[in-house]
Amino acid sequence: MRFDGKRALVTGAAGGIGQAVVAMLRAEGAHVAVTDRDSSSVAAEAHLDGDLLDGSFCDGLPGRAAEALGGLDILCNNAGVITRGDITETSDADYALTMGVNVEAPFRLCRAAIPLMAETGGGAIVNTSSCWGVRPGPNHPLYVMSKAALASLTQCLGRDHAHQGIRVNAVCPNEVNTPMLRSGFEKRGFDPDRAIEELNASVPLGHIAEPEEIADVILFLASDAARYMCGALVEVNGGKPVI
Ligand code: NAD
Repeated sequence: MRFDGKRALVTGAAGGIGQAVVAMLRAEGAHVAVTDRDSSSVAAEAHLDGDLLDGSFCDGLPGRAAEALGGLDILCNNAGVITRGDITETSDADYALTMGVNVEAPFRLCRAAIPLMAETGGGAIVNTSSCWGVRPGPNHPLYVMSKAALASLTQCLGRDHAHQGIRVNAVCPNEVNTPMLRSGFEKRGFDPDRAIEELNASVPLGHIAEPEEIADVILFLASDAARYMCGALVEVNGGKPVI
């Protein structure tokens, strides 16, 4: 199995993509520490729940995962929040939330995980950015800016830490069928199933991504099959790039 004996920490583990990543890593032999606000429904080797807006929680998390699992080989910075609306509709609270979860938390987690991985000869970090982190979509400047920052962090760390055997890459999905997307439709008064049907028609492959289709790419980037990839931003979009 690709991840036999590997030790992984996954954030946002109770969310759509997170649950798929955790289940698929464990099915391939990994021992996984999960974190979310409440990950009690997710089967894992260690549950380390907390709020990623809490800086000291983030600073300590990789160390706690390494302690629970006997080391740390893989970090998946997957948790995220989306804030909608143009800049004039964006509050200070929106800014603090979005930059806190999408940028500051992965920054702190990478900063704490890299020395642990370096001590044991290397590791892999996979960040979940977005296709909007590569090219902006309309009317979500705060989310786009946060995902672009995460994409840039990925490129920087991919270059800076390759010499330590640490590979840092990002997956950049377009629309994925998860609570994040569905709750957005609900908030705007649309039926999520009908809205997703309409979105499916806009994707050349015929459907928006299911969480497992993104998790497959995250696992690839975390695996030895991606052993020569550092700082890559991998768009996963069913043939529907953001233009
Ligand atoms: P999701 O809402 O199902 O999962 C996100 C998880 O992050 C949730 O379980 C949530 O509790 C957790 N989280 C958020 N804030 C937190 C905090 N302060 N502390 C601890 N945990 C917190 O969404 P998803 O679609 O599975 O998103 C996973 C990642 O994929 C995100 O980074 C998202 O931006 C990215 N993404 C999603 C889509 C999409 O269309 N769904 C597209 C591109 C990128």
